[in-house]
Amino acid sequence: MKCDVIVIGAGAAGLMCSAEAAKRGRSVLVLDHGKPGRKVLASGGGRSNFTNLFLSAENYISENPDFPKSALAGFTPDDIVRFLESRGTQFEEMGDGQLFLKGRSRDLLDLLLGQCRENGARIITGAKIRGVDKKTGLFTVRTGKGQFEGDSLVVATGGLSYPELGATDLGYKIASQFGLRITPLRPALVPFKFSPEELRRFSGLSGISLKAGITFGKKEKNQKKQKSFEGDILFTHGGLSGPAVLQASLYWNAEEIVIDLLPGIDIKEIFLSEKNRSTEMHNYLSFYMPRRLALRWCELFSCSGKPLRLCLAKELESLAEGLHNWKFRPAGTEGYRTAEVTAGGVDTRELSSRSMECGKAPSLFFVGEVMDVTGQLGGYNLHWAWASGYAAGRYA
Ligand SMILES: Cc1cc2nc3c(=O)[nH]c(=O)nc-3n(C[C@H](O)[C@H](O)[C@H](O)COP(=O)(O)OP(=O)(O)OC[C@H]3O[C@@H](n4cnc5c(N)ncnc54)[C@H](O)[C@@H]3O)c2cc1C
Repeated sequence: MKCDVIVIGAGAAGLMCSAEAAKRGRSVLVLDHGKPGRKVLASGGGRSNFTNLFLSAENYISENPDFPKSALAGFTPDDIVRFLESRGTQFEEMGDGQLFLKGRSRDLLDLLLGQCRENGARIITGAKIRGVDKKTGLFTVRTGKGQFEGDSLVVATGGLSYPELGATDLGYKIASQFGLRITPLRPALVPFKFSPEELRRFSGLSGISLKAGITFGKKEKNQKKQKSFEGDILFTHGGLSGPAVLQASLYWNAEEIVIDLLPGIDIKEIFLSEKNRSTEMHNYLSFYMPRRLALRWCELFSCSGKPLRLCLAKELESLAEGLHNWKFRPAGTEGYRTAEVTAGGVDTRELSSRSMECGKAPSLFFVGEVMDVTGQLGGYNLHWAWASGYAAGRYA
């Protein structure tokens, strides 16, 4: 079968690209080895945090930081909002500009599939890709469901995270086959794992969530080297998760981290001003943090059960220091199994920022997470899938 455009991967980026290319009258064939849009369905806890109102290129990391600018300008949060509004899909802002659907992610996926269908794109699912070639100006894709030829090939196979949702390394293999460089890959937006020592101390705290600050990196003249995040953290059975931790994992490079369990509060000052109280320390601390955590921290600093007035100044100081500067080196992350995204990918210096087309291999395009463009937590990754997919759809 011959068509104008073959898109490999029926995820957010592939479907957006297919709908747009088909709208231009191109004959489009989408191939996926599984069902379409499995990550769209899982996104935002089933309600898709599909964009962010405050989005800019600064919300993305890439070895080529200016690359996303053009595609983000070409497809803005307003564009996806207008698309949803025109189809009567309701959404709401959940803080920090994050837009979530009011309904289910299924509605968003159905809209994308509907757009592809209406514009005439054909989708073949369950197609195991056996190989890709380019001969006599045409791309050939060999699959378990037949061989297909296209003038253009769009690689929209996503990253390595969540293999259970269909992630594979096919996109990187195709990129390498055509001589493109892959920047180092790593799981990101992913929970930290405790070391055995931390696990012994904190495994009983699983389920506790609180607002905290996370800092790591060198504090030098160049403040950019030091990274700080504030938000909710969650103790899990094996480590730490929660929005602030996931965000931090995007920048973390195996260094020691410092956690402030009471950001914005000077607990040492409070202890000193209340040092005559008879309240037991862990009860007193429970005003400021979850009770189980207060108790555990007091046990670690040998203050549990002790009234505040009997604690020595030295003890109060070291407890306050421990609460504001809890230092440890995570044993690693939970890896691709639970990472929301893969950081790194196809080197964008080899691609056009306007069309996502590869300079070395004309008519070959890369879109979405397979590229070295990784967004922060908060709707930025789906937005990159829309924006890059839309850009390629206008040229493929
Ligand atoms: C649990 C979870 C929650 C998330 N929540 C959010 C959120 O709320 N907001 C947000 O912005 N981002 C979120 N993300 C990230 C976001 O979903 C992804 O960045 C985005 O879906 C990437 O789109 P993509 O089209 O590039 O890749 P994908 O959506 O991963 O699509 C790739 C497609 O390629 C197919 N494919 C892969 N390998 C092959 C192969 N060998 N042969 C054929 N087909 C193949 C896959 O089956 C898949 O359909 C979340 C991710 C996860 C895992």
